[in-house]
Amino acid sequence: MLLTLEPDLTADQLQQIEDRLRQLEVRVEKTAAGARPIWVITSGGGEPPAERLATIPGVAAVLPGEGGFPLASLALRGRPSVIRCGPLEIGGRDFVLAAGPCAVETPEQMEACALATKRAGGLLFRGGSFKPRTSPYTFQGLGREGLRLHREVADRHGLLMMSEVLDREDLPTVAEWADVLQVGSRNMQNFPLLKAIGRLNKPVLLKRGLAATRDEFLLAAEYILSGGNERVILCERGIRSFDPALRNSLDLASVLLLKEMTHLPVLVDPSHATGLRRLVAPMARAAAAAGADGLLVEIHPSPDSALSDGPQALLPEELLHLAEELADLAPVVGRRFPRPA
Ligand code: PEP
Ligand code: MN
Repeated sequence: MLLTLEPDLTADQLQQIEDRLRQLEVRVEKTAAGARPIWVITSGGGEPPAERLATIPGVAAVLPGEGGFPLASLALRGRPSVIRCGPLEIGGRDFVLAAGPCAVETPEQMEACALATKRAGGLLFRGGSFKPRTSPYTFQGLGREGLRLHREVADRHGLLMMSEVLDREDLPTVAEWADVLQVGSRNMQNFPLLKAIGRLNKPVLLKRGLAATRDEFLLAAEYILSGGNERVILCERGIRSFDPALRNSLDLASVLLLKEMTHLPVLVDPSHATGLRRLVAPMARAAAAAGADGLLVEIHPSPDSALSDGPQALLPEELLHLAEELADLAPVVGRRFPRPA
């Protein structure tokens, strides 16, 4: 069970609640959604009935723990969160464009991608150096060398760097180089990794699992939030469907449901959601129109020779064209997006 407390209780009032809980032989784990304390009852079984806990002065509500996501909940937080990362604000008025290659490959490729991202009005420069490839015989990423190259190019262009972390072992290294961590679809339920990221104070883009329900997605976010890291950004990247015509099926309605349920920002990745270059821009426009907080788009200067995900990569000029369209579209849905120079 979860207890949400009234906001702005004094230290004395909090102590009184704690004393009452001790009398009832209940153990609690303390956390918070913004200013509102949320205490999680950790003693298994034998808990007093919810009605009894609800009568303790200062307790606002008693919620079932199973399936609950108090820290991600919009209702409990009361307003959408804006995640700040340097000059970037995700979840506010600005529509955010994150772009870059699927994988970090060469200095020339990174240079071309950084230029395109910047010209298109993107501040967040993505690129994987630890790649979660389906086959162990395909390019696995440049590892540390890729992180170093990514950082150097991002800094030179004044961009923020986002990179995927695959496991706990690499977390300190990726966290040292990247401004924003990415947890990929395949790792959405890697709970030890989520817990370890929860202990960092670093923005994290959490991608929806290939076949995760909305609730599983929010509970994965809850793992990070409950560790104390409040800087979680969700990313809808399509879910596995029965139809092999597309790589995935872009679940835009789910973005709207998420925005109803959670205060966390939600980006959309139309690249992995379709797997097809010609569908990326139309789905990106659809995501912006539907109320997503931004996009994650893969680009490559020569997609035919890309080491990973070439068929879905936009060319630099295609990203620029999309940015022009987003500049027209954003104000229609109450957002700001810079017009490319
Ligand atoms: C990626 O962003 O390159 C990636 C591997 O995406 P996903 O985890 O959504 O498959
Ligand atoms: Mn990719």
